[in-house]
Parts: sequence; structure tokens; C-alpha cells
Amino acid sequence: MLQATDWADVKVVGIPRALLFYRFGVLWTTFFESIGRTVVVSDPTDKAIADEGDHLSVDECCLASKVFVGHVESLVGRCDAVFVPCYPTGEPRTGFCTKFQSATDMVRNTFRDQKLRVISCEVSNARKMKDVRRAFEEMALRMGVSLKDARAAFKAAWDAQRAHDEAQADAQDRTLRRVDEQRKVAKAAVAAGEDVAFPLGILVVAHPYITHDPYLSSAVIDSLTDMGATVIYADAMDHERSYKKSFDFSGTMPWLINRELIGAILLAQDRIDGIVLISAFPCGPDSMTDDAIMRCIQGTPILNLMIDAQSGTAGVETRVESFVDILRFQQKGGYVHG
Ligand code: SF4
Repeated sequence: MLQATDWADVKVVGIPRALLFYRFGVLWTTFFESIGRTVVVSDPTDKAIADEGDHLSVDECCLASKVFVGHVESLVGRCDAVFVPCYPTGEPRTGFCTKFQSATDMVRNTFRDQKLRVISCEVSNARKMKDVRRAFEEMALRMGVSLKDARAAFKAAWDAQRAHDEAQADAQDRTLRRVDEQRKVAKAAVAAGEDVAFPLGILVVAHPYITHDPYLSSAVIDSLTDMGATVIYADAMDHERSYKKSFDFSGTMPWLINRELIGAILLAQDRIDGIVLISAFPCGPDSMTDDAIMRCIQGTPILNLMIDAQSGTAGVETRVESFVDILRFQQKGGYVHG
């Protein structure tokens, strides 16, 4: 049977700067550029994008997926087709939330009146290089690319994503080491009778499309850094080590990213002073995992924040400031009564 090349005329590919773009965006953009396409990534989230996504989505959708729809809308007329991959839950314990399974159909349906073209591929297991490669090769063939060129493009894309992830993980390691060092210095100073402030290392635990989208998370991140805390990003820690470690917490949890976030908590717990969970209302996976984290992670203070389309980040700064104040009070022995 002849391979359909119905996407061969797609020369400019639009990619929404939302959801899994923050996890696999380097792979996606490198792949399309390597097969000779021009990539247009939507602009950073702003109020207009968020409002448009809210307007086009049903109320029950989570804030992150509403923002995603706003990004798709912003690409209409700026590209030949929008890339919306499908990440179904092919195998246990490596799956994604249902939003990533339905994203392609959801976009086609939402934008059918605008006749928006959508190109896609189905990645059955995002942790298996062969599965991801097969999905991207199949898509490239439909774009009129030879198998040889598709394979070379995929190798470049996979390597670029891996290098990006390793650099991110190294940055988190360096930050943790810096906090360790500052803590040692502070301890020595206190032992010598000096009055010094201890460093405050805070692990921010959220899906990458929350943590690294400034429109959604800057109220939290800026408040923490303004108060002198050092932020470590759970989603950016070593994915492989975090994933493996997550089995100490649960053998059955189905979602890949939630697994990595929980594994990162376990890996960093002894080296941080507090944890800030950020969840987008109403996130199904987070509603289960955040509750389990609050109940099962002992000995580390946790602040659980929810952001939604209505209230946005109102009140978040106050809660973060109170949390940091309490941690600093505790560092000085405030709640220890002899
Ligand atoms: S994991 Fe949660 S925040 Fe992410 S898309 Fe699914 S419901 Fe939305």
C-alpha cells in the first residue's frame, strides 16, 4: 500500500507553547526543523491567550488545557498546520492524563469551523525511544519525507532533548549543592556565636507547563525568590532517577510526570526546607497525588496551592510569604519548646 503524503504541503508548523511543549518541545522543534520545516511557536502566555482559551473551553477543563486552547487559537492564520500530538496511556505506570490522549481530537473539534489543519502522531510510550521514533517517522512519511531523512531528524531531535534535560538536571544539582554549602557555612557561623540567616531551599512541585509558564507561576516563584528562598524545580530534576525512585512511594501510580515529581521529592527531601505544590484547577491526577504527598511525606513542611482561571494567582503571594515566614521562624527554633 502506498504511504499517504497528505501533509506534504505543510511547510510551516505551529506549536502551541503549552502542556507537553514544556516537556518535549526541544524534540518537537528540532525534529520539524531537521526535516526542513519552519516552526512557529506561539507567544508566551498572556491574559488575552488565557481568556481566549477559557472562552473556547468547557468549564470542566483544567486551567492548563484552557491555556493550551488559547495558544492553538493564537496560531490560526500563522502556520499551515498546528502540531498536536497524542500521548495515550499505552503501558501502565508511564501514562499521561486523559487531556494528552484527547488533545488532537479536542483541537480538531474546537476549531472545525476555522478549518484549522492539525498534524499529529501517536506516542504509545514516551519513555521508549523506539516508540517515539516510530510515531515521528510515520508522521514524517505523511509529510513527504524519506524514511532515511526522518530517521536522521529524529536522532538529532532525541539527542537535543536529552542534552536539554541533562542540562536542566545538572542545574538543579548545582543549586542543591549550593544550598548544602550555604547551610554548612551558616551552621559553622552559628556555632561560633554569630547571628546569621540560614539558607532556605524550596522544592517547587508542579507540571512543567505550570512551573515554567511565567503567566501561571511567576506569582509563586517571584514571591519565593523575593523573600530570599532558593527554588529547586522538581520537574527539572533527573527524570530517570526520579521515575525509578517514585516506586518507593507507589507501585501502581499510572502517570509518568506525577511519578517523576514524587520521585524528585524523595530524592531531594533531606536537602530542602520546604515543598510548594502548585496545581491547576481542577487537575485529576494532582488531586490524588497531592493528597497522597500531603499525607505521606513526613518531616518537611508543605504548602499546597491551587490556581484557576477565575481567581488566577490572587492571594498566592500572601500564602507564600506566610509559608516562608513560618519556615524562617522554625529555623530559629520558634516552634521547639524545651
Ligand atoms: S495533568 Fe492536570 S493540569 Fe495537566 S492537563 Fe491533566 S488535568 Fe490538566
